[in-house]
Amino acid sequence: MILFKTVKSLQDYIQQHKKQGHAIGFVPTMGALHQGHLSLIQQAVKNNDCAICSIFVNPTQFNDAGDLQRYPRTVEQDLALLEQHQTSAVFLPSVEEIYPNDLDTTVNLDLGTLDKFMEGEHRPGHFKGVVQVVKRLLDIVTPNRLYMGQKDFQQYSIIRYMVEQLQISTEVIRCPIVREPNGLAMSSRNVLLSEEEKKQAALISKTLYAAQKEALHLPLEQVKQNAIQKLSRPPFRLDYFEIANRRSLQPAASFDQPTVACTAVFLGKIRLIDNVMINVV
Ligand code: AMP
Repeated sequence: MILFKTVKSLQDYIQQHKKQGHAIGFVPTMGALHQGHLSLIQQAVKNNDCAICSIFVNPTQFNDAGDLQRYPRTVEQDLALLEQHQTSAVFLPSVEEIYPNDLDTTVNLDLGTLDKFMEGEHRPGHFKGVVQVVKRLLDIVTPNRLYMGQKDFQQYSIIRYMVEQLQISTEVIRCPIVREPNGLAMSSRNVLLSEEEKKQAALISKTLYAAQKEALHLPLEQVKQNAIQKLSRPPFRLDYFEIANRRSLQPAASFDQPTVACTAVFLGKIRLIDNVMINVV
C-alpha cells in the first residue's frame, strides 16, 4: 500500500495505472475507519485493479465547530486496517492540498429538492461542502467507480445527481449499511458514545424497522407519528424523522411511491443518523 499526501504524487501514480488500462475504484472517507468503511473498500478491491481510499476530515461540510473538533481521528489505526484489506493506495491530503488559495473549488449546482429536507434542512451548508469536496476528489482521482454507503442516503443521492448533471464518467455504487450486532448503524461517531449509550442507540434502527413493518398496514402519517413518539423520549432528542420519496427526497404523503425512512437523533451531544427503505408499492 502506498501513502500519498500531495495531489501531484497521487496523480502521477494514477496516470501509471491509467496507461495500463487499469480500473480505479475510489472510497472517500473522513477516517476513524470501521467495518462500514471497510465493506466499501472490499468492494473497491474486488472489482477494480486499483483501490484508492482517501482520508480527509473536510472542514467545509461541518456546520458545527464542536462537531468538527470532536470528530475522531485515528490515522495510524486506519492505515493498518487499509493495509490489511489490500488497499492499493491511501490519499491523506492537508486542507491546503484540497483547497489551495489559487483554486476556486466551489461547485454551483442546483440540487433541486435533494438538499431541501432532512440533513439539508437540519445541517445548513452541509451538502454544499460535501459536493465541493467530492467534486474536488473526483477531479483528482478520476475513478471508474465511486463507492458510497447507504448510511448517508441523502449524500449518496446528491453525489449521484452531481455526477449525472456534470457528466462525470464515474459509476456511483451504493453499498449497504453495516450494523453492530444490536442493529446500531456503524459510524465513526459511535466511539464517542458510552457503552450504555451504544445499547440505548439500538432503538434507532429498531424504530426504523418497526416503521418498515407498520407501513404494510398503517397510513404514512400514523407510521411517522409512532416513530416520532418513540424517538422523542429521553435519553434521545429527535432532530427529525421523515419518510421521503426515494428519488426526490421530498416528504411523502402516502406509501403509493418508493420511500425511504430517515432519521437523525441526538444522544447527548452526539448526532446519529440512520435510514431504511420502505417497500410497499
Ligand atoms: P465518512 O467517513 O463518515 O464520511 O463515510 C465514508 C463513506 O463510508 C460514506 O460513503 C459513508 O456512507 C460510508 N459509511 C459510513 N458508515 C457506514 C456504514 N455503517 N455502512 C456502510 N457504509 C458506511
